[in-house]
Amino acid sequence: MGTATHPKRGEFRNEPLTDFSKAENRKAQQQALDKVKAELGREYPLLIDGEEIHTAEKTKSTNPSHPEQVVGVFQKATPELAVRAIESAHRAFDTWKRVAAEKRAECLFRAADIFRKRRFELNAWMIYEVGKTWPEADADIAEAIDFCEYYGREMLRLAGPQPVLQAPGEKNYLLYIPLGAGVVIPPWNFPSAIPTGMVGAALVTGNTVVLKPSSDAMAIAWQLVEAMYEAGIPKHALHFFTGPGSTAGDALIANPKTRFIAFTGSKEVGLHISELAGKAPKGQIWIKRTVLEMGGKDAIVVDEEADVDAAVEGVAVSAFGYQGQKCSACSRAIVSEKVYKEFVDKLTKRVQTIKVGPSEDPANYMGPVVNANALKSMLEYVEVGKKEGKVVTGGKRAAGDGYFLEPTVIADVKPNARLAQEEIFGPVLAVIPAKDFDDALKIANGTEFGLTGALYSKNPKKIARAAEEFHVGNLYFNRKCTGALVGVQPFGGFNMSGTDSKAGGQDYLLLFLQGKSVSEKLQKH
Ligand code: NAD
Repeated sequence: MGTATHPKRGEFRNEPLTDFSKAENRKAQQQALDKVKAELGREYPLLIDGEEIHTAEKTKSTNPSHPEQVVGVFQKATPELAVRAIESAHRAFDTWKRVAAEKRAECLFRAADIFRKRRFELNAWMIYEVGKTWPEADADIAEAIDFCEYYGREMLRLAGPQPVLQAPGEKNYLLYIPLGAGVVIPPWNFPSAIPTGMVGAALVTGNTVVLKPSSDAMAIAWQLVEAMYEAGIPKHALHFFTGPGSTAGDALIANPKTRFIAFTGSKEVGLHISELAGKAPKGQIWIKRTVLEMGGKDAIVVDEEADVDAAVEGVAVSAFGYQGQKCSACSRAIVSEKVYKEFVDKLTKRVQTIKVGPSEDPANYMGPVVNANALKSMLEYVEVGKKEGKVVTGGKRAAGDGYFLEPTVIADVKPNARLAQEEIFGPVLAVIPAKDFDDALKIANGTEFGLTGALYSKNPKKIARAAEEFHVGNLYFNRKCTGALVGVQPFGGFNMSGTDSKAGGQDYLLLFLQGKSVSEKLQKH
């Protein structure tokens, strides 16, 4: 069954990316950077039922390219405010769920239009707050637009008649109804796409939401929430809530009025949420639903029958695009012994061409990593890597005050080494030699994760085998393992990578709905 088309907007199409080789686009992006720069450092309240709330304690978000630059000052919500937020969302559910699906979908379509109009400004917020380069920021907002357009259409499909059989003498139908008030907890690394996707899906299906953004991406989340209100989402249906995950976040999750939690982030936090949400406090009358999308240790397998140059390029962009801070990023290159030396030599040369520096400068392919703790942890992994393999390039901080790390390749890593098993979430790639294709597949599947993966090979038999045996939620052949498109490559992983929710696919909205089957015995007149 195809995705529903919209009478005026037509079929779903992925939003094109901005072509920054064009002078007018470069100029527009630079102007937006200047405009947003003047807005940095502002203070933002919590928004509960539209009421602006200020707390005694504050938290700051800063620019990882220039850590002294404050992007925004935010409130540190308390567990008591968490109760207030979720109770407000719970109350609002009764009215928002009654708004027609078409009207809710229209809100998402309008949000998409607002994002298009403010695209360069939203890019600028991402460039400043999370160190995205121009094209990475632009792809992030394009995906946010896609989620709005796709989920809007999907809701129209799910609001229509559903295919059930008819029993004699009865009228039978199935309705999809929303769940209730939920908590949306996104990571910082796709600060437009992921919150928009999770919040948009929850709202369009008729649920209400408390959004608790990552402490590294609060200003961008504020921009998104403002756009949603402007698009017609009522303030009582969407609440903006900043504060420490461990206290205020837990209070949101544990509350008996919380009906669902949509989370994307690390395995550790995801498992914690799963456990906490599994408990039923007094007064709770449902089992909380959790949508948990977590980390990865994604591999690209380079077979001896591969185009090695293409594989080198695919690994380089998958491992170092956005500083390796994508859940889909390649963090293991598993390379056949027969082409291993050639691959490592070529990859080393390619990686040494990568420029690292402040992300507002479009000459840099890599910007900073997200914060000081992340940089510290990555440098610790490099030390581990020196013992577990050989650093062939990178391994040190790059020049500048920001959190810059050289793109780092560590070769000769064993499949079970820490570097090959633990998610580093930065520009540190482990290269692992494999005896043959069987061995390569075994190594690729030999972690607790299962998010993305790729194989470079010209052999159709090996491609067919990998299609069956390479156990990941998103598998690619002869191309990079990042950049999944909404509607084209529904996204989500297996095992410790999460609940395989397939964001941007036809199954996704069902996670925010429950099916109600209705049968009426026909009266004889
Ligand atoms: P994180 O787990 O540290 O944080 C994610 C979110 O959880 C943040 O908003 C954080 O504030 C919040 N949080 C932390 N502790 C909490 C608690 N006790 N209660 C409630 N909320 C809490 O992850 P991150 O550093 O923001 O993001 C990086 C991780 O996300 C990586 O592991 C990456 O692989 C993963 N990721 C996965 C996908 C996917 O689709 N599978 C997509 C993007 C990122």
